[in-house]
Amino acid sequence: MNRHEHGHRHHDEAMLSVEDALERILGHFHVLEAEETPLLDALGQILAEDAVSAHDIPPLDNSAMDGYAIQAASVANATEESPMTLRVVGAVAAGELPSTSVEPGTAVRIMTGAPIPPGADSVVPFEETDEIERRNSGHDITEIGIKIAAPLGSDIRPAGQDVRENTRVLSAGTVLRPSEIGVLASLGFGKVKVVRRPVVAILSTGDELLNAGDAYSEGKIYDANSYSVAASVLRYGGVPKLLGIARDNLDSMNTKLREGLEADMLITSAGVSKGDYDMVKDVLADHGRIAFWSVRMRPAKPLAFGVLNAGGDRQVPHLGLPGNPVSAMVAFEQFGRAAIHKMMGKTGYLKPRIQAILDEPIYNTDGRRVYARAVISKQNGDYHAKLTGNQSSNLLTSMAGANGLAVCPEDLSVKEAGETVEVQMLDWPEDVF
Ligand code: AMP
Ligand code: MG
Repeated sequence: MNRHEHGHRHHDEAMLSVEDALERILGHFHVLEAEETPLLDALGQILAEDAVSAHDIPPLDNSAMDGYAIQAASVANATEESPMTLRVVGAVAAGELPSTSVEPGTAVRIMTGAPIPPGADSVVPFEETDEIERRNSGHDITEIGIKIAAPLGSDIRPAGQDVRENTRVLSAGTVLRPSEIGVLASLGFGKVKVVRRPVVAILSTGDELLNAGDAYSEGKIYDANSYSVAASVLRYGGVPKLLGIARDNLDSMNTKLREGLEADMLITSAGVSKGDYDMVKDVLADHGRIAFWSVRMRPAKPLAFGVLNAGGDRQVPHLGLPGNPVSAMVAFEQFGRAAIHKMMGKTGYLKPRIQAILDEPIYNTDGRRVYARAVISKQNGDYHAKLTGNQSSNLLTSMAGANGLAVCPEDLSVKEAGETVEVQMLDWPEDVF
């Protein structure tokens, strides 16, 4: 073995910190190109160009209330006991343009959102008029009694109050949440240019695996990882492409891997622990290159990362998750999620984190960062972290019960009960608030 190979081997097999592994992985991902997409589909995506308003919102001065548009001077002396009576000369509803103007001594009946008629400088809501008495009398309302001296401009919403014509309302780089989607709709955009969603090909490997929905067969287990990973990809904004199950032989692996070459990323699970290296390595040698890492974390110490040659200059990054279902999910949360975020143009890669009081100890036997499945709840104003029991990485139901991952740092042999622990929140169920 020459020096270079030796160095390379050493490099691959050294224990990497979570941060180093993440940095190396993210170095292979780039923000994807922008594409136009129907507005609603863009939820959670990143706006790729500034959104500029073509007109004012609201477009015209309009009424904040159902009532009467008047001139404030006409009702300067109005009181509850002696209302000022005005002649009703018209009506205007939202979406209409006023056909009559308001003059001294007259009023136009107006609905919320309707444009203010020319001449009017205030709106008096129905509640401050004798509208109800008159309506109850059964006669047409030709006059209206105003019971207050309306301040100038009252209940008029000025044009452009929300958005001014020709201004940048949302900047490129903004994450589109429901409120931003609403703002874009209010600007009239039916489509929007966003960073496109990454297509993530997902492949499980193992002779023991059955696809969910297939008949049960003794000695086999159902493939959980394809589904937990695909669901995570969906949740974080990517488009999962399930390749199914590759068997533990070269042909099967080769065939399936080829199906993943059109994706923006391939995620496999299993086959990355010591015993399995050789075959996966051989397969990957045909398609690209791969490194097998030991990451200083528990669960999910073994991790593979490489690139597949996809024709021409194109390369597809490949993340090889461990097979144990909890390991696969925890590694996905640390690395897969970040890669998806980076491709989508998002800058914050970390899950939301909180500090919680640990209700029981987390033991750390071998200097790795421990991600303990935990249930976080709020008690007397403090967050508390209770572990979900047995932390073996094959127990997927313990992941289902958890809403967070409580982190014991690699340099501590134990995080004691009562100590403060950092928790990566997986979810924010109601009882955590
Ligand atoms: P391996 O890395 O292939 O040795 O797998 C480690 C453990 O994870 C074994 O117990 C496998 O049966 C299990 N495993 C691998 N892939 C899956 C999967 N897709 N779903 C559930 N368990 C799996
Ligand atoms: Mg296996």
